[in-house]
Amino acid sequence: MKATIATEWLSGCSGCHVAVVDLHEKLLGLLENVEFVRIPVLMDEKDYPEADIGIVEGAVRSEHDRVALKKMRSKVKTLIAFGTCAVYGGPSGIGWLHESSDVMNCAYRSGPTNSGTESPDMNAVPLEECVVPIDEVVPVDIYLPGCPPHPYFIAAAIKAVLDPCAPRITGKPVCSDCTRKMRKSENITLKRGELTAEDQEICFLSQGVVCLGSVTLNRCLAPCPKRGTACSGCAGPSLDIVNEPQLDIRTLVAKRMNMLTGIDTTDVTSYIEQNAKTFYAYALASPAIYKKPTVEIMEWTGETTKLN
Ligand code: SF4
Ligand code: SF4
Ligand code: SF4
Repeated sequence: MKATIATEWLSGCSGCHVAVVDLHEKLLGLLENVEFVRIPVLMDEKDYPEADIGIVEGAVRSEHDRVALKKMRSKVKTLIAFGTCAVYGGPSGIGWLHESSDVMNCAYRSGPTNSGTESPDMNAVPLEECVVPIDEVVPVDIYLPGCPPHPYFIAAAIKAVLDPCAPRITGKPVCSDCTRKMRKSENITLKRGELTAEDQEICFLSQGVVCLGSVTLNRCLAPCPKRGTACSGCAGPSLDIVNEPQLDIRTLVAKRMNMLTGIDTTDVTSYIEQNAKTFYAYALASPAIYKKPTVEIMEWTGETTKLN
């Protein structure tokens, strides 16, 4: 008998659902073993049927998200937090730093594509005051971050649920799939605001460009550094950062860059702090980041909303 899968889509961009469709031939292989009973991107099923596996994209940002998530949890045996939004809050987690009324005003009234007079539909579900990862609302069985996760890891995660003997997905960082070489370099300065560097063979850190590949979990196969852009950490923090309270993104990157180039660690840490909304963009709403004793997002950004 085929295992059944139901999916749901909370506050996210739908990119994670599109990634499921992107499974292509892997999806066909999977379909021999599974049947989708609910998947918003492919079928019009409003109810929440019982299923063996529940896959949830997006963070909890509204009462609708909260209710939908609880319904999913009550109907599925194994729940997968699917994508960086579901696991860590994702980009919309930056809403933590602002009042929800400010977010609405910025998005709907004073945004560059808005006339300045339009108001959000008054029937729309109001935003909650905070964005939270889904495990702040219901228990989660499997975490699959990635923005979106690469189809390779999606297929591997589903196989792991269906077959306890399937190979475990590794917990290595993005560097493990990057082809660039780390090497010691001299006379290198910190390249502020740069996302790329001249030498395509050499690690960005060796060239003075901040790359988060060493502090980011590999759920993408490292497409950005392979194509010439530094990693911005969209798959969320590496497992050592999640599990060890004293380890943090900026200090680990600064130490590594210092070893490779001699650039002062405080230059790197203060640069990352000044740009915290960029370098901490994907996991800001997660206690794994904002509860670290050394992470002072509010202080760095000068925002006034309190993180709990
Ligand atoms: S994790 Fe990325 S791709 Fe998935 S819903 Fe969030 S923003 Fe979109
Ligand atoms: S830090 Fe970035 S460029 Fe360097 S090896 Fe890691 S992913 Fe590649
Ligand atoms: S930003 Fe980093 S984690 Fe995200 S897809 Fe690019 S290499 Fe992967």
